[in-house]
Amino acid sequence: MKPSQRFQKKVWRKPPKQKSKQHKIPNKIGKAKCAVCKKPINSAKRNLARENFKRAKSSVRTNRPYGNYLCTTCLRKLAIKETRALQTE
Ligand SMILES: [Zn+2]
Repeated sequence: MKPSQRFQKKVWRKPPKQKSKQHKIPNKIGKAKCAVCKKPINSAKRNLARENFKRAKSSVRTNRPYGNYLCTTCLRKLAIKETRALQTE
């Protein structure tokens, strides 16, 4: 057993008409990805997949508009496009 697997959470699940099996739950939730370019967001920190421990919301995602939803380059492009559209009106 790897050292990282020692504290991995296990859950017992019973399929119909079968004996109950042990399932392992991954330690960490998957990385946050940008909605436009699908690249992983560097500023986003990952929560543990346990219910008894959770990071503070302010430390998980950055405190800016569309934080944890768009990466910085996509947000910059979108903001410039939106402001230029406003100026022409
Ligand atoms: Zn992006």
